Parts: sequence; C-alpha cells; structure tokens
Amino acid sequence: SAAVAQVVNPATGARENSYPLTTLDEALKAAERAKAAQLDWRKTSFADRAAVVGKAAALLRDRADDYAALMTQEMGKTLTDGRAEIEKCAAHCDWFAKNAERYLADQPVDVDGAGEVFVTFNPLGVVLAVMPWNFPFWQVIRFAAPALMAGNGAVLKHASNVPGCALAIEQLFRDAGLPDDLFRTLLLPSKDIAHLIESPHIAAVTLTGSVAAGKSVAAAAGGVLKKCVLELGGSDAYLILDDADPAAAAKVAATARMVNGGQSCIAGKRFIVVEAMKQQFEAALVKAMRAYAIGDPTEENTKLGPMQSVEARDEVHEQVEKSIANGAKLLLGGEIPDKAGAWYPATVLTDVAAGQPAHDEEIFGPVAAIITAKDEADAIRIANDSEFGLGSGVLTGNLDRGRRIARDELDAGMSFVNENVRSDPRMPFGGVKHSGYGRECADYGIREFVNIKTVLVK
Ligand code: NDP
Repeated sequence: SAAVAQVVNPATGARENSYPLTTLDEALKAAERAKAAQLDWRKTSFADRAAVVGKAAALLRDRADDYAALMTQEMGKTLTDGRAEIEKCAAHCDWFAKNAERYLADQPVDVDGAGEVFVTFNPLGVVLAVMPWNFPFWQVIRFAAPALMAGNGAVLKHASNVPGCALAIEQLFRDAGLPDDLFRTLLLPSKDIAHLIESPHIAAVTLTGSVAAGKSVAAAAGGVLKKCVLELGGSDAYLILDDADPAAAAKVAATARMVNGGQSCIAGKRFIVVEAMKQQFEAALVKAMRAYAIGDPTEENTKLGPMQSVEARDEVHEQVEKSIANGAKLLLGGEIPDKAGAWYPATVLTDVAAGQPAHDEEIFGPVAAIITAKDEADAIRIANDSEFGLGSGVLTGNLDRGRRIARDELDAGMSFVNENVRSDPRMPFGGVKHSGYGRECADYGIREFVNIKTVLVK
C-alpha cells in the first residue's frame, strides 16, 4: 500500500483522515510546472496579483470556521485561536496586496556623472517553503502573500501532521484565481527535501522550524548555492526590572509564554527577574498562569488546549523533570493529566539556572522559567547567554531605560518594551544566532526573494 500522512487528533488520540504522500518524482514535476507558471506570472501587473491575493483574503474570512476546525483536528489549536489566526492571514494578504508595489518600486540612485541609475526588484522564481505545524495557516501565508506579490511561485512542504491544512491552502489559492501550478502543496517526506532543493526549477528556500531542520535544509541549499531564509527556534527572554509593576509584568509574561499553548517560536520562555522583584513577580506570574486552565479546544472559552502530539508533550515533561532534578523549584503545574490525548498544564518553574533544560534549551510548551539576576547588567548578560536570538522583552516603569536596553543591549531580532513580542505584516520579523537569518514581513521580508538589480543607463 502507498505511504500516507496519518492525522491523529491530539485532544483525543483518535486516528482521523489520512492522505497519500507525494513521491519525489511528482514533486520534481510540480516544481517544473510551477516554474513554467511563474514565467508568465512575473509578467503580470501588481494590480492583477493584488486581485488574486485580495480574493484569497476574502475566502479566508468566508472559510474561517472550517479552517479553524481543521487546525483543531490536526494539531489541537483552540477554535478561538484558529479563527484569530485565519483573520491574521487575511489581513496579511490584504496588506501585501495593497503595499507590495510600494515596497518594490524602483529606487533611483544618484551617482555623479554615471547617467541614469536605479535599483529594481525582479522575482527569483519558485521558492520551496518548508513549514511547521504550530501556525499551520499563518506560517505559510506569512511567506506566500509577499512572495506571490513579488512575482514568485512556490511549492510547499508542510509538516507531516497537518496535511489537511496544507492541501486546504493550495485549494485556497486555486479558488482565489491563482494560475494553476503556481502554488503547489507537496506531501513530501523530509528525507526527499534535499533532492527537491537540487531541482533547477527551485530558486530558493524558506524554512520555519527547528534548528536541526534548519541546518539540514541550509546545508542542502548551500551545496547548490541557493538562497535561504531561516526562521528557527527561540528562547525569548523578558527582563523584569526593579521598577516594573509586578502584576502588569506578569500579565505580559503569561501572555507571551502562552501564545498557542506555549508552542510558538516567539513565545516568552525565560523570565529574568532582578532579585529585588523576585518574590512579587513569582506570585504574580503563578496567578496569571493559573488562569490558563486546560479545556476542550472546541469550546469557545478554552484558554489552553492539548499540545500538538503526545511525543512533544512527553519531551516537554522530561525537560521539566530534569530541570527540577537539577535544582529548579516547581511553583505550578508539572503533572501530566490522567486522560487520553496530548495534555500538559500551565507550569511555572523558578530558581532556574545553567545546567537545567529550562535554562539551556527551548521548551516548546506551556512552561514558564523564572531566572533570578543580581541587577540590570546581570539580567542582560543572562538574556544574551543563549544559543537563540529571536524575540526579547523588557518590562520596566522607565521607558528610557527600556528603550536603551531594547535598542542597544539585547541580541535578538525583535525587542519589545512592556509588550509581548508578536508578528505583524508591517514590522520585520526574524532572528540572529541559532534563531536563523533573513527576515519576513514588511519591506525587508518581501525583498528576500527578489533579485536586487542595479540598472545603469547612459
Ligand atoms: P521540525 O523542524 O522538525 O519541522 C518543521 C518542518 O521542517 C516540517 O515541515 C518538517 O517536516 C521539516 N523538517 C524536519 N526535519 C527536516 C529535514 N531534516 N529536512 C527537511 N525538512 C525537515 O519541527 P518539529 O515539529 O519537530 O518541532 C520541534 C522543534 O522545532 C520545536 O521544539 C521548536 O524548537 C522548533 N519549531 C519552531 C517553530 C517556529 O515557529 N520557529 C515551529 C515549530 C517547531 P516533517 O514534519 O515531515 O518532519
């Protein structure tokens, strides 16, 4: 029998739909057809492209309930979060439909005596997108809307646990009027990705996912000298300074930690509190985290659904247990509920220190780690003492102090003062160190998959 992608509902453990996998041969043919379609698409006007991408936004809004239900079934997202994710995708499509032309307008350059000089942005071709399950629609749309508006095509290799979402996105673009073959979903196993990258019809690669997947895809792309953008993990640190309001800081911290049940690259993961604030912040954070009670993801008011899989849950629990064995103190949660499915409660650890997984590694689940620092300088040092550099935050009553630390001190692609880090089509998004390289969103994002071409006319 042919290989399939099998969906397992994380709330119940039940086996749901299965989908036949794409063979490498089919994937290579799809890339070739996408390239042929892209050669026509690159000649279309921004207005023509905007009509399609704008129509995709309208269809996303029409179908929000169905798409949210699909995410709940495949990876356990609450329906409420799912609907919000689809609206975010629609707004992103609208933004790039409206602004791509401005972002990609020719830029005149003044070069004395050289004649007419300008910079123009040509599309690169077909981009391979390797995407994760945690925001099954948003991760794809975040890349696809600007890439398509810039005149590129795309083939999607989505995470193996969200095949229904992957196929729904392909259908969405087809229904929006995108030319056949320009955007294709391939249910391709990871082992075939390196071969697909070698296809002469693939121009570049974008990957959102783990460090391990990023290294493997970047190595394959490097082997054939193809550009890649990598958006990998994070262990975002938030500094809680001595002049912060503890309850307000805890609210931002809990919101940052509990995005998507804690399964987000830009979730706050390390909360670095200065000694003077430690006790007050611990109490406030436990209170804020306790509000995230586990519940049925299909219920409107549920704040914490299941994790994406039992395996991922077990990994998180092991990180918690090892941290406790190495000196961390459990303030909340930390126990696996006795029922079928991938459940894990909101958990708070304190006295987290080097040598514990909660300090040294990313925890991809609902677990907040409190680390104590002597003072501001020590807190900055600890925040930067990480393999990652995606988001970061400063919680303080002094905006000048917050601005200075965010601007000059934190090694991260994004630094927010008194607010949890979030993505937005208008703001560049990405990281440094093992969080990856390149940017998504805004002008920087749409210019990743273009040929920045200098033209001189004399
Ligand atoms: P992965 O990185 O394994 O999956 C992300 C995507 O990469 C999937 O499409 C996956 O396909 C693919 N992939 C995995 N390995 C390879 C490879 N060697 N070559 C090509 N493609 C590959 O994420 P996981 O789901 O395993 O999550 C584990 C960790 O990843 C988390 O703890 C977190 O650190 C990080 N992560 C980060 C995300 C982010 O938003 N930045 C999102 C999700 C995870 P397949 O499913 O078929 O293996």
